[in-house]
Amino acid sequence: MKLHHESTKVYGSAIRGGSRKRSREIRYGKFSLVLMGLILLVMGITYSFSGMAHWIKTMVAPPPISVIQQPAQLGLIQESPNVKEQPTRFLGQVRKVAYITFDDGPSKYTGQLLDIMNQYDAKATFFMVGENLDYYPEAVKRLVNEGNYPGLHSMTHSYKKLYKSGGSDKFLNEFKEVQKKVEALIGYTPHLIRAPYGSSPQIGEAFRGDIAAAGFKMWDWTTDSLDWDLPGQPNKIISRIQRGVHRDIEVILMHERKQTVEALPQILKLLKAKGYEFEVYNPNEHVVVNFSHDPRL
Ligand SMILES: [Zn+2]
Repeated sequence: MKLHHESTKVYGSAIRGGSRKRSREIRYGKFSLVLMGLILLVMGITYSFSGMAHWIKTMVAPPPISVIQQPAQLGLIQESPNVKEQPTRFLGQVRKVAYITFDDGPSKYTGQLLDIMNQYDAKATFFMVGENLDYYPEAVKRLVNEGNYPGLHSMTHSYKKLYKSGGSDKFLNEFKEVQKKVEALIGYTPHLIRAPYGSSPQIGEAFRGDIAAAGFKMWDWTTDSLDWDLPGQPNKIISRIQRGVHRDIEVILMHERKQTVEALPQILKLLKAKGYEFEVYNPNEHVVVNFSHDPRL
């Protein structure tokens, strides 16, 4: 319909162009009146075609995406959302955004991490292990109710079980299982995953394709705090992050550990001082953060 409409317009303007030339030759002639009539007729046909095209479009086109109702909380939706780049400029200034992420929970530290995050008006993305969900179900509900994102981090966190086969089957089965468990707790389905031990080198191109085809998005990180390896040394965690962050968008890897709870207030303070705003993962504004820069994820 659209093509037809375009070609009608082009045809109409060709006639109009030709008529101007001819009317100069036969000034005040009877033919000019006839030509004027023809032009009006063509314009009329063009107009009614465009009207009809618009009418047909409104009859058959699906409703715009914004009309579809979405769960209010966090903007989390069931279906794959529109993927767009995170806006990096606001009023001409480059926005610096820090995504705080906590892996391997929920745990006995989840509540303390949330208390500190709330003090700094910050939200985090939690990548949770399925086997821990049974022990701390209330922590999962709380973190979601307070505006944090429930990311997925496999059922077992076992390198052997997830990667030894080289294929994606066991990996995907674990992530589908943990996804169902989180869904049963909170009532909607999260799609963002983090591969235990990171996606590289054990997850190749075909493997990544399988993850994307299963409807997941996958985040690695930009700055690793190495907090898990620094028990009793919160200052070392703080200085690692201090040295590591410099990008406009940072995804900071931390874990649910005692030393992380101890370091967190200082970490949030230093990020603020460096001009970072804290953001929680938003599926409607997905940002690609994986080691392979794979845009499918
Ligand atoms: Zn982990």
